[in-house]
Amino acid sequence: MGLPLSFEFFPPKTPEGAEKLRVVRQALYAKNPQFCSVTYGAGGSTQQGTFDTVGEILAEGVSAASHFSCIGATKASVREQLATLKAMGVKRLVALRGDLPSGYGASGEFHYASDLVAFIREETGRDFHIEVAAYPEVHPQAKSPEADLQAYVTKVKAGADSAITQYFYNTDAYFRFVDEAYKRGADVPVVPGIMPITSSTQLLRFSDACGAEIPRWIRLRLQGYGDDMASIQAFGLEVVTDLCDQLITAGVPALHFYAMNQSAPTLGVLDGLAQR
Ligand code: FAD
Repeated sequence: MGLPLSFEFFPPKTPEGAEKLRVVRQALYAKNPQFCSVTYGAGGSTQQGTFDTVGEILAEGVSAASHFSCIGATKASVREQLATLKAMGVKRLVALRGDLPSGYGASGEFHYASDLVAFIREETGRDFHIEVAAYPEVHPQAKSPEADLQAYVTKVKAGADSAITQYFYNTDAYFRFVDEAYKRGADVPVVPGIMPITSSTQLLRFSDACGAEIPRWIRLRLQGYGDDMASIQAFGLEVVTDLCDQLITAGVPALHFYAMNQSAPTLGVLDGLAQR
């Protein structure tokens, strides 16, 4: 496929998880990703794991993006981490506000991702390509869809180079979001985030909290399969391959896969697309 691809991983918690992820990465590298990104735990809780995984990806000769969240952080701590990432050879960041774990107060010197984007630009000029998050189906804490769109525009104008969306299964929401953002002058590429469907309970539980809607017909079909994992995965593969096919036909700039530290679901979709 000629379209740029990227794959997102989370930092493994155990040596066994790290070893498994190395195997997963090698399998996915067969698809020549433009970059692989590594998430960053709430409040910086996985910082070392994130940086270690980013370092491994770079050592494997692949471009790596470090996710970087600012909630609860100070300017001094962000400055220090930016210097570490720059010294490692990282050229791409996914700049986020993030979410504090429950029980933490909202301290820190950054309120929104736009503050972090502006700070990174001020401190490091054009050293990093900055990605930001986009929510075609509206961020769950937004005051209104319009306020959320305006917040996205502000974040892009603070200096973002491109955006990756929260996952979605409704392409209309994505295309409308891109149109409206462009009309307001936020004209950077908006790359669809693709979540392969591999289990039903996990997806249904997770989606409510993160601003992604599972359309009724998908939810009911998934619930109808009960514990029949083979049927869930076959159905999920068909739905997500169709989704990507529609997005590619419509001319999206790239695809970003939430690989969830597994290779088979993402490869299943990419191989399915190659056969169409
Ligand atoms: P922001 O863009 O700051 O928006 C947060 C909320 O504030 C929105 O409701 C917005 O409408 C509102 N807002 C923004 N600016 C203003 C303003 N000026 N005035 C009033 N309201 C405003 N989480 C992690 O912990 N680690 C990760 O690695 C991670 N990676 C992600 C990758 C992608 C591609 C995506 C889509 C999400 C990721 N997340 C991650 C989740 C993200 O941290 C949460 O969704 C978080 O709640 C919002 O982060 P943000 O950067 O989108 O915030």
